[in-house]
Amino acid sequence: MNELSMLIEKAEKIYRKKFSNRTWFERALFFSWSCSIRDCTFCYMSTQQRNNDYKKAVRSKESLYAETILCKKLGWKIGFFSGGINSYPHKELLEILKIINSIIGEKIWLNIGPIPKKQLENYQPYIKGIIGSIETVNEKIHSEVCPSKPIKPYLKMFKNSRELGLKNGMTLILGLGESKVDFKKLESFIKKNNIEKIHVYALNPVKETVFERKKSPTKEYQAWYIAKIRTSFPKIDIQMGIWKDKINRVSLLLRAGANSISKFPITKKFGSEKAKNIELEAKKAKRKFSGTLTKLPNIDWNKEIEKLTINNETKQIVKKKLEQYLKKMS
Ligand code: SF4
Repeated sequence: MNELSMLIEKAEKIYRKKFSNRTWFERALFFSWSCSIRDCTFCYMSTQQRNNDYKKAVRSKESLYAETILCKKLGWKIGFFSGGINSYPHKELLEILKIINSIIGEKIWLNIGPIPKKQLENYQPYIKGIIGSIETVNEKIHSEVCPSKPIKPYLKMFKNSRELGLKNGMTLILGLGESKVDFKKLESFIKKNNIEKIHVYALNPVKETVFERKKSPTKEYQAWYIAKIRTSFPKIDIQMGIWKDKINRVSLLLRAGANSISKFPITKKFGSEKAKNIELEAKKAKRKFSGTLTKLPNIDWNKEIEKLTINNETKQIVKKKLEQYLKKMS
């Protein structure tokens, strides 16, 4: 047995001791796609940097409610709620969070950049924790790939969040130039900042970025990182980020100790061969898949909308949005 197989076997044992044999899909819910930074070198936004036509792409609250109902009814969890911090007036954003909480029946993770303590206090009733988009803990690489997104304000947010009794989570992108040697840094970062949830993505090289001609890290490399995190932090919640070309790695990453699956464009690919293969991969890893990526359940969707504490006019728009989703997916 080679080093990776032994590590994965150990990680799988730990996972099975600490968690049930379930897995599920997590959806990132975006309320806008605007970004004031637009220079992280791996990000699509960096290709828009000199685009004068660039506009804030803000999403309607009706569309957010429709997608949240879909998530709830199809068994997808919401990985985090994300978007440009000033896309919505603050009061309106709080109202949106409140409605989303009532649909899913729980609080949500929030990922909107480093949030000052005063503002965190306002979000506190509706969120279980905050996600810091750290991307890499190698300081040198971080300053190159995220020149305008320093780590320090996130560290302050992690500290404030703990003081307020909230949880901390982070994102990690593999393939930005780090190596296995950087795991030690990651380990101490997780400890120092009380990270309870980590999103582990493999770089998806985006056209026209500096990573365009780079390769995504292999499934073995992503599995190694996940297994190392699992063996060092038995209780941490690990979400694996996969894109539609990385489905054949799902079973390996689950065995390495990941809890859930994300980043698959599910509303476009619902019921497709690829979606079926994700469910099969879960089975291969001996995990039961909670929810569905393939079969639309028979649900009275209008009844779900009627339950919302929003005005009738808004409900009618949510209905239309939900119909559009369901049409695309069926
Ligand atoms: S990764 Fe960087 S450029 Fe891309 S959306 Fe986030 S902050 Fe903006």
